[in-house]
Amino acid sequence: MTEVLDPGGLVVVAGAGGFIGGHLVAGLQAAGARRIRAVDSKPIGQWHQRPPEVEYVQADLRPADACYRVTEGASYVFNLAADMGGMGFIETHKADCMLSVLISTHLLLAARDQGVKRFFYSSSACVYNASKQTDAAVKPLREEDAYPAMPEDGYGWEKLFTERMCQHFTDEFGLQTRVARYHNVYGPLGTWDGGREKAPAAICRKVAQAKLGGLKEIEIWGDGEQTRSFMFVDDCVEGTLRIMSSDFADPINLGSDRLVSINQLVDIVEEIAGTKLKRVHNLAAPKGVRGRNSDNTLIAKRLDWEPQVTLEEGLQKTYSWIYDQLASGSHDLSAYR
Ligand code: NAD
Repeated sequence: MTEVLDPGGLVVVAGAGGFIGGHLVAGLQAAGARRIRAVDSKPIGQWHQRPPEVEYVQADLRPADACYRVTEGASYVFNLAADMGGMGFIETHKADCMLSVLISTHLLLAARDQGVKRFFYSSSACVYNASKQTDAAVKPLREEDAYPAMPEDGYGWEKLFTERMCQHFTDEFGLQTRVARYHNVYGPLGTWDGGREKAPAAICRKVAQAKLGGLKEIEIWGDGEQTRSFMFVDDCVEGTLRIMSSDFADPINLGSDRLVSINQLVDIVEEIAGTKLKRVHNLAAPKGVRGRNSDNTLIAKRLDWEPQVTLEEGLQKTYSWIYDQLASGSHDLSAYR
């Protein structure tokens, strides 16, 4: 694990009750950070992770005063707070997604005014121009492919706008910013049901439900030939810390460059689970762009690193965790039959 810049400096993680934020807090501790303030709007009892010796704050970060309060005394800020979810959420909640601009704007202002040394922003592959993602055999997306701008409507526009704010806060106010474009992050201790879950968690859940409930079919959104790359959350945390510590200030891809179709993703999860299910394709369901992959030339060159965990290894851990959640009885399986 990469070492943090200054182990004694106060690190604020916004969105720490969420999937990646929870893993990031744990990763920061493992990397030597001794003072962490973890912030999220969710009640603390609902956070995915709560490692010991962390200051926990429940705060809605849309109002400016909350952002000023939580960044007081901070040396480093990681902004992962956003109203978001998988395709089923972002295609139907465009305004909600765009309202995350309040969090981004007010956190940047607070960081600038309180002398924060470095600010990290979690952007997304959803900033890329949609016209470059129309083919399942997509050419991997290089950082410059975000322009001319035609991002995912709603969610992607907010991400692209905030990327540019970060750049201009650096140029005009001298606030050091770092921006990573995450590509489809998955792993345990994240959302796996309820409507905000993303494809890997949804597929693991459906296969686990079939195993536990004796079902023979699985519903897949679209024809399943749409393609993506998927990054295990440990790689996301490692890459985030490396980008934050680096001298590279422009937006940079952080994702796997192994392209798979959703049908191939199902093949891998079925193999892990030791089952084979009949596929029912729901062509009316949200699907997103036809193909999307990360070009890792820049990260390999500038950081001498790129994601390491194989999809099989990461999905094994994710499937086992989701299976255990279902098997522990906290969910009523009859609801899925
Ligand atoms: P998540 O939904 O699990 O975490 C986001 C957290 O932000 C949630 O816990 C939520 O309660 C919190 N939040 C929302 N509104 C808030 C508010 N007003 N004030 C304070 N906290 C608020 O999502 P995640 O998957 O952990 O994603 C983290 C970041 O990474 C997000 O910015 C997301 O857009 C970005 N990202 C994620 C992926 C991915 O595949 N998971 C891909 C690209 C980008």
